[in-house]
Amino acid sequence: MRARLTGQSELPRGVRNALAASVEDALALAAQRIGTAAEKLARVRAAQWSGACTAWWGVCPHCGPTLMAEDGRSWCRQCGTAWNYDRSQGPCGEPGAYLAMDALGGTVLVCAAHGRYMQERLEGGLLLAIPTS
Ligand SMILES: [Zn+2]
Ligand SMILES: [Zn+2]
Repeated sequence: MRARLTGQSELPRGVRNALAASVEDALALAAQRIGTAAEKLARVRAAQWSGACTAWWGVCPHCGPTLMAEDGRSWCRQCGTAWNYDRSQGPCGEPGAYLAMDALGGTVLVCAAHGRYMQERLEGGLLLAIPTS
């Protein structure tokens, strides 16, 4: 991005500087400086793609709330799938499969595993399957 913009001399210097100091650049800089802390931030951002499950606690995508975590690693005690980070903390990020609606009409997009889990616990709520194309 920055390399392409430097060639465009018609842009006033102030504008070029503003573009260079974009959010993405700032994040890249933060990632270099903070190291592991930024790695967590990057994972959070990666999990927040549109269409992703919005639950802010992790599950095993196959089994549900069966995660165990220790020393920054996590695994499913049911199927044995393991992750090299603590999946039980932070956003889920699995593909959204259901729209969960609570009694007040608020909706959240959740994945299949979270949907199954919530189905048993939504009191006066509604779980709508999102049609897959
Ligand atoms: Zn599992
Ligand atoms: Zn989920």
